[in-house]
Amino acid sequence: MNTKVLIVDKNVDNLESCPQITQAAELLQKNEVVALPTETVYGLAGNANDDKAIVKIFSAKGRPADNPLIIHIGDFDQLNDIVSEVSNEAKKLMKAFWPGPLTLVLKKKFGTLSNRATAGLSTVAVRMPNHPIALAIIKKCKLPIAAPSANQSGKPSPTTAKHVYADLAGKISAIVDGGPTNVGVESTVVDCTENPPIILRPGGITKEQLEEVIKTVAIDQALIDKGAAPKSPGMKYRHYAPNAPFFLVEGSRSFLQQLADEKRAAGLRIGILTTEEYKDEYEADVVLACGERRNLESVASHLYETLRTFNDLQVDIIYGEVFPPIGVGQAIMNRLSKAAGNQLIKEINES
Ligand code: AMP
Ligand code: MG
Repeated sequence: MNTKVLIVDKNVDNLESCPQITQAAELLQKNEVVALPTETVYGLAGNANDDKAIVKIFSAKGRPADNPLIIHIGDFDQLNDIVSEVSNEAKKLMKAFWPGPLTLVLKKKFGTLSNRATAGLSTVAVRMPNHPIALAIIKKCKLPIAAPSANQSGKPSPTTAKHVYADLAGKISAIVDGGPTNVGVESTVVDCTENPPIILRPGGITKEQLEEVIKTVAIDQALIDKGAAPKSPGMKYRHYAPNAPFFLVEGSRSFLQQLADEKRAAGLRIGILTTEEYKDEYEADVVLACGERRNLESVASHLYETLRTFNDLQVDIIYGEVFPPIGVGQAIMNRLSKAAGNQLIKEINES
């Protein structure tokens, strides 16, 4: 299959009448799959009402069939078509954060949406993305749009059209290139069928932000205790992994340098993941700064790109600094821990 690349300037007026947007919307109406930018990462979009379109998403990504997809909507009328119940808490969260990087799990309306999209569950995860191109395409095609990240399952999520092309060229009909995404980590997933609502996946909207709008928000135990089974089907899988073995290092920079030195002495090509503040303090084959530590939003927005760059530069092992799990730091550490397959090396302090 020839994958078309449709370049769109997200800042032009009247995006809905732009020919590339019309082309993408028409492909979706024909049950083809199209990658498009959202404010979090690039999504692989397909008609959420149609089993064939959903099968195309799962097979292009190599995604396990028991991992349900987030359904993207362009306005509140579309929400009423697919969910049967919206709690007061959910209404408040939508009012505060939609469009935006927040996904709400709600009761699904019986007889709507492809069962494959929701992996046979009686609930559905819904979000209204805050990106002019995604919204224009959804409104134009007038369909609920299933859109997981547009990467090969297991690899770092794509934050540019180039990343999508590298993973999915030849497997999907088109890629809408609207430039790099902004938030850089996926949406926060909150289960609103429970009281109080539960964070199933940390993301672009922090627990602190949610608690400014509704009093209590719980966190899925599996996000704290690595032994507990996650409530969200997708959270059990390894994700975001770079090609080389990746270890998070908790301790001093000299300890991390020592780990790198030992492996370099054995002839291995070592990568270090740090931030702008400390990149000049390390010596290794590849030292990459992922944003600024003092601005965790910048770390989130560069995270996946940095992991992919280690692949391009072909290192044998990556050592990475950890981040405080505060605010968006919680999503950063969730993604980094998964990328590392939970491999953490801790410095033991003698004193
Ligand atoms: P992704 O599309 O890869 O960004 O992931 C979507 C996340 O939402 C995965 O972790 C899914 O398991 C989760 N998810 C989707 N639908 C539901 C649902 N109905 N209940 C719980 N989690 C869900
Ligand atoms: Mg994903």
